Amino acid sequence: MDMGVLQNIVANSAYVSARGSVDGTAASTMRDKKFRAKLKLPHIKKSEHMKTTVDSGFDSMCVKQPIGKRLFQQYLESDATHKNACELWKDMEDYNITQEKYRVQKAQKIVNKFYESKIFCSFLEEKAVTRIKEDHNNIRGDLFKKSEQQLLKHLETKAMSGFKNSMYFLRYIQFKWLETQPIDEDWFMDFRVLGKGGFGEVHACQMKATGKMYANKKLDKKRLKKQRLRAIVEKRTLAKVHSRFIVSLAYAFQTKTNLCLVMTIMNGGDLRFHIYNVDEKNPGFDETRACFYSAQIIMGIEHLHQHRIIYRDLKPENVLLDDAGHVRLSDLGLAVELPPGKDKTKGYVGTPGFVAPEPIEHKEYDYTVDYFTLGVTLYEMIQVENTEVQRQVPQKDGKAICEGLMEKDPVKRLGFKNNESGKKYTLLKKIKETLKQHNVTRMGAFSFIKGVVIDAKDNEFYDDFSSGNVPIPWQEEMMETGVFGELKLWTPGGNLPDDLDP
Ligand code: ADP
Ligand code: MG
Ligand code: MG
Repeated sequence: MDMGVLQNIVANSAYVSARGSVDGTAASTMRDKKFRAKLKLPHIKKSEHMKTTVDSGFDSMCVKQPIGKRLFQQYLESDATHKNACELWKDMEDYNITQEKYRVQKAQKIVNKFYESKIFCSFLEEKAVTRIKEDHNNIRGDLFKKSEQQLLKHLETKAMSGFKNSMYFLRYIQFKWLETQPIDEDWFMDFRVLGKGGFGEVHACQMKATGKMYANKKLDKKRLKKQRLRAIVEKRTLAKVHSRFIVSLAYAFQTKTNLCLVMTIMNGGDLRFHIYNVDEKNPGFDETRACFYSAQIIMGIEHLHQHRIIYRDLKPENVLLDDAGHVRLSDLGLAVELPPGKDKTKGYVGTPGFVAPEPIEHKEYDYTVDYFTLGVTLYEMIQVENTEVQRQVPQKDGKAICEGLMEKDPVKRLGFKNNESGKKYTLLKKIKETLKQHNVTRMGAFSFIKGVVIDAKDNEFYDDFSSGNVPIPWQEEMMETGVFGELKLWTPGGNLPDDLDP
């Protein structure tokens, strides 16, 4: 047996057992003790100086960042004046993730507890209260939206300063200190190769200190050279967006030879593989499955658009599946962010065969190009040409939607949000229903690159790339692997039992 094959088998079985450990209950047993020991909160004196510089805007600290939010809620629960508001906040969040069939029941409970008496929740405006009392029997994802806004506004003005004077805020600063500690390749154990890209390989890897599995996309510095701006764009874009439908970036660092992006691991392969290779004689998906993926893809695209980002490279190959069969968009190296005040961009970017006509014709274009590529992707998923014989998919609908999406004129193009012309298609209705429930060209062989010299400018660029831990995914990792809970045993005074919790 040749050594390469053997190496791969070993890497693979180690990978399988590492995966098992995170899927099951034994995540912590797979941790490397030496690295786990490095994840230690600093003495308060060591992090105190960050009090004024730390990210402490209400929305970021108390709502978006998982650890910040948890500590803020712990503070609210410890204070009699805010206890009820916190309980309502958590109940509203529960409602948002409650299955549809239990929603009415859940809403009724919340109304009884907080809206009928309204003793403790004087911050809720009369109008919102009346609406919810009238409306709570209808299943609506945004039932509590207005109330939640009022609640958060209230907490921002009434509870935030108290929080910032409490021990919980000091704890937040300690975590932020820990979050900003540099980490490097030593913190990750590499397993098998998940795929190959234009600038290097993507490996499965495990963060040693927590046991969490990730995908490590390694970009070869020498091979990257001319296209390094793309690496920066990919990193910045990934770090900016946080969606269940886009791979998230947890760490960005460099080694002597590579730039590394550590991201959500997607074990299920890409959609291209599932369309063509799983059942070669019968490519494509049935309608339900195509709708399921389309809905998730649309959620991903719309999240990007909300952040003023045009994806530009949607194709089955860039849509990856996880263990549970859900999909996320990946490979954001061709994305572009529209600067404030600008609504269009230029430049022929994308994959031939998928790109909309505007970029090809060197015209200005906007977000609608992503709906064109969605059309081509959907076309492949439902295999418009093949299904005539092999499948009983409502051909006409599928074809009509693809054509609507692949409309040459971007103004007439089907765009899902403001477009009425799509209403008649049942497939589109199905996609929209699925959406509602969701409230859920490679460069080939690697040749060694000679004669590339790394200069001072390169190093500046590499430093810009290597920004380290990305707050939200890092905090999620600390919470879901239990590290956050374990670190509660630390107090500002030293390694004493926690005196924060009653
Ligand atoms: P490139 O930008 O060079 O095309 P990609 O980001 O597409 O690189 O990654 C190359 C390949 O690596 C993908 O086609 C896929 O097979 C695999 N891959 C990329 N990201 C992940 C991930 N997060 N999880 C699992 N596999 C991945
Ligand atoms: Mg790719
Ligand atoms: Mg790419």
